[in-house]
Amino acid sequence: MSDQKKNEKGITPQSENFSRWYIDAIRKADLMDYTPVRGCIAFKPDGFELWERIQSKMDQRFKETGHRNAYFPMLIPESFFQKEKEHVEGFNPELPWVTEAGSEKLEERLALRPTSETMIGHLYSQWIQSYRDLPVLINQWANVFRWEKRTLPFLRTSEFLWQEGHTAHATEQEAREETMQMLQIYQEVVEQELAIPVWMGQKTPSERFAGAIDTYSIEAMMKDGKAVQAGTSHYLGENFARSFEIQFLDRDNQQKYVHTTSWGTSTRLIGAMIMVHGDDQGLVIPPRMAPTQLVMIPVGPGKLREKVMEKFDPLYDQLKAGGIRVRADLRDETPGWKFNEWELRGVPLRLEIGPRDVDNNQVILVRRDTGEKITVGLDRVVEHVEELLVHIQKTMVQRAVAFRDKHSHFTVDTLDDLKAHIVHQENVGEIAGWVLAGWCGEEECESQVKDETKFTSRNIPFDAPMEKKKCIVCAKESKYTVWFGRAY
Ligand code: AMP
Ligand code: ZN
Repeated sequence: MSDQKKNEKGITPQSENFSRWYIDAIRKADLMDYTPVRGCIAFKPDGFELWERIQSKMDQRFKETGHRNAYFPMLIPESFFQKEKEHVEGFNPELPWVTEAGSEKLEERLALRPTSETMIGHLYSQWIQSYRDLPVLINQWANVFRWEKRTLPFLRTSEFLWQEGHTAHATEQEAREETMQMLQIYQEVVEQELAIPVWMGQKTPSERFAGAIDTYSIEAMMKDGKAVQAGTSHYLGENFARSFEIQFLDRDNQQKYVHTTSWGTSTRLIGAMIMVHGDDQGLVIPPRMAPTQLVMIPVGPGKLREKVMEKFDPLYDQLKAGGIRVRADLRDETPGWKFNEWELRGVPLRLEIGPRDVDNNQVILVRRDTGEKITVGLDRVVEHVEELLVHIQKTMVQRAVAFRDKHSHFTVDTLDDLKAHIVHQENVGEIAGWVLAGWCGEEECESQVKDETKFTSRNIPFDAPMEKKKCIVCAKESKYTVWFGRAY
């Protein structure tokens, strides 16, 4: 595509080409860079800072619920994978291998971990002997590797950063409660902090994690109507316990297998946050996630700068003392250039102050999410900023909910309806969004939807907005009501 399609900021408009827009936006905001290694990106400081904030919001909640962090090796012996049949089948196509060290061939190949159930299973079998050792509630912050065919910065990369929780419990009930608790935490962080509404629900068997009994997910809609699986929580039953001999002596003096869970979220969340909130001017970061919440920019002629700075400096100190993540941009550039740059980066609020504002004892606040300009008395800036940040956060969730609901369709009852819907939306220049549909539970029906429309089952929501009575493909009585949509 030619550069003429780009706007004055050098960004392809979303309506023109959403994927282009995404790449332009994250590049202009300086979040990442490509590397010579296929599918592996570098997280530049501004991108990594977003991850650090996501991490801290998650980590705090993990700890509040009794989990502790640990670290396990990145290299996993091949024999470990062979122990759980479904697990190896699921992950084999995506594993990179270490086969030699220096000039010597290794006796056993080592995989770069795609996830750590096997290594951790091996260790838990030694750490767990008695019911007194349970539950084990451990989380790991790490990098993992999945050699994906299709990659997209943050959303799907060959190496990514994530957290993986691995817990072991004495009973199925306790393990299932843990699985749900962690899904709930994901939903909370993603909605409350990242301002992304999600549907919590269960994955269909074909989308289940390799080796799990049940997989649950949170699913979010991007501005192009596509879905992102924003986090997953798995009940693994006794599968890994049996493969790795994780047994304990219970109170009743019986040897039993533990029930395990695992749960993960990744740097994909950065991409989701950008695709849910961003606009043609660049990123829009929700205040609770923004590394910089307010940027202060002095305006007006340079010869009057001193007069402005007399007010500017104490105001900066006040804001800082008030706990606002504030930044003063005093670089030798024009105000317009700076406005542009901070818009690209998605800083929620901009404060402008010039000589005339000083005369009027006021400042100008500009909202990134709406572009609205607000004049505020100099003596009330801190409280206004605090209020505005809360308000912006709330507005952003509301907007995202409204967008999602507008693009969720409930009257698509047959596969023909779905095909007609997709064509119709394209003809009127609208996104296809998601459809809520009935499903009989047969894998054939599910895969037919995928083959003929590229819509895949997202999840079976716990709180479906309505119940669909008939399978979208075979018209038999439906067992489940499922979200279908195209997915990243
Ligand atoms: P899983 O272990 O497969 O359940 O993955 C846990 C979470 O990691 C998923 O819900 C995704 O949000 C994320 N994820 C999976 N694959 C990738 C990838 N290639 N790049 C970035 N994030 C990923
Ligand atoms: Zn069917």
